[in-house]
Amino acid sequence: MLFDGAIMASRKSYCIICGQEKDGIEIENDYVISTIRWFKRNITKNEKDNKIVVCKECYPKYKVLRKRFENRQKIYITLGILFIIFGMIISPRVGTLIVTVIVAIFLYLLSLLSYTPKIKLDVQAAPLQPHVAEASNKRSNKRLKQ
Ligand SMILES: [Zn+2]
Repeated sequence: MLFDGAIMASRKSYCIICGQEKDGIEIENDYVISTIRWFKRNITKNEKDNKIVVCKECYPKYKVLRKRFENRQKIYITLGILFIIFGMIISPRVGTLIVTVIVAIFLYLLSLLSYTPKIKLDVQAAPLQPHVAEASNKRSNKRLKQ
């Protein structure tokens, strides 16, 4: 525990869902996170090197949001591709290709409005799972007592 505290002190971790300073499962560094970090480092110069995590309390909510984002992104990408294909069928010209690709990119960017990053689940799922099981056990115990 003492060792954990020492690590925490050097680098703060914030929950991406509730925004509180909490420990949790770290999110995976993808291109969206990399882009934001690049902007903070090079443009706004306020990179804090904070760890972004999903805390245990927010984990169920996170799972719902992540699923919603994944589904939305799939739909928008499919729509974008269909749009390009139909555009090329109706009017097979370079101009059509450029316009439809721009629309497809715009659709993709729209899907990022509900952006929810992936978390490093495979690495840190083990310590979380017993906690979740424990929490639900406590709840069912309480129910039994009542
Ligand atoms: Zn949280």
